[in-house]
Amino acid sequence: MPSERAAATAAQRAAGAAPALPDFAAHIVAWQATHGRSALPWQNTRDPYRVWLSEVMLQQTQVTTVLGYFARFLERFPTVGALAAGTEDEVFGLWSGLGYYSRARNMHRCAQDVVARFGGVFPTTAAELMTLPGIGRSTAAAIAAFCFGERVAILDGNVKRVLTRVLGFAGDMSSAAQERALWDEATRLLPPADDRDAIARYTQGVMDLGATVCLPRKPACMLCPVSRRCVALREGEPERYPVKTRKLKRTAQSLWMLELRDPQGRVWLEKRPARGIWAGLYCLPVFDSREALVAAMPGAASDLEDLPPFVHVLTHKDLHLHPVRCRATVPQGREGARWVDAAEWRRLGLPAPVRKLLEG
Ligand code: SF4
Repeated sequence: MPSERAAATAAQRAAGAAPALPDFAAHIVAWQATHGRSALPWQNTRDPYRVWLSEVMLQQTQVTTVLGYFARFLERFPTVGALAAGTEDEVFGLWSGLGYYSRARNMHRCAQDVVARFGGVFPTTAAELMTLPGIGRSTAAAIAAFCFGERVAILDGNVKRVLTRVLGFAGDMSSAAQERALWDEATRLLPPADDRDAIARYTQGVMDLGATVCLPRKPACMLCPVSRRCVALREGEPERYPVKTRKLKRTAQSLWMLELRDPQGRVWLEKRPARGIWAGLYCLPVFDSREALVAAMPGAASDLEDLPPFVHVLTHKDLHLHPVRCRATVPQGREGARWVDAAEWRRLGLPAPVRKLLEG
C-alpha cells in the first residue's frame, strides 16, 4: 500500500538509513552505456555553454523540437559571450515557437551575468551555477555533473518520476518538505564519491530512463534495468507515482486583439511591456474589452470586422482571444508600435497565437 510505504520510507529517513538500493547507480550506469541516448548534439561534450543551452531548451520541450533550435542558436551565438552581446529581440526571434519566453529572457540575462561576474567562463560548481538567473538546482547539478564531474543529484520531472516509483516514495510532491526529502533520497542514490567518472553517465542514465522507459503513462517496465528493485511495479500501480494532490488552479482571461494591415501588407505591431503576459514580445495591440478597442480607434467602428474567437491554452490559464480586423487607421495612444513587413515579423519573437493569426 502506498500510504504504508510512505510511512516506511519516512521511518527509514528518520532513522538515517539509506534505502535498500545499494546497486541502483551501478545498474543505471551499465544500462546507460548500452541503451541510453548518446548521439544528441549536446552530448559527448564538457562545454557548459552547450549543456546549459540544451538543459534550458529541454525544460518544457521535446528533444525532436529542440534539435533545430539548438543548432540555429549555436550558429548565431556560438559562445556565451556572443549570446550576452546579442539583443533581446534577436534572442526572442530565435526562440520563437518554443514558448515559455521567460526561459529565453533568463538565458540572455544569465549569459550577461556569466560575462559580467565570471569573465565569460561558467563557474564549475552547482552552488555557484545556482546564483545565475534561470539556473535552478536541477539544471545547475546537470551542468556540474556533466561538465565538471561534481557528485550532485538532479531532480527534473523525469527523474522525479523514476525515483518516486523505484523507492515507492508516496510523499506529496506539492509539499516542499516532501520534495526536500526526495532530494535527500536522490543524493543517497548517487554513485560512490570515489567514482568520479560514473556521475556523468549516471546523470544521463536516470534522465534517459525517465524519458524513454519510465513514461508517465504505461511505463515499459519490461525494459527497465531496475525493475526487480522497483516498489511501484511490485505494488502493481506505477502510474500512481509521483503523488501530487494539489492541482494547478486554472484561470481564464478574455482579450481582444487588433489585426491591422496597411495596403502594402505590413502589420501593426507593438512591443509588450517588460512585465505581464507575453512580456517583451512583439504583439498585435491587445485590449481587455471590445469597448476599449473601439475607443482606441475613433471613427473606425464601422470598419471593424470580428474574426472567429479561439482559445489559447497557457500553463495556468485559458486565454479566450477575440481577433478584430481593421484596414482603416492606427490605434491612438499606443507606445512603441510600428508597421512591420512580413519578412521582419517572421523573424521576431511573437506570441504563438499571434503568429498563428498572421500566418493563417
Ligand atoms: S520498473 Fe517500471 S515503474 Fe519502476 S522504475 Fe522501471 S519503468 Fe519505472
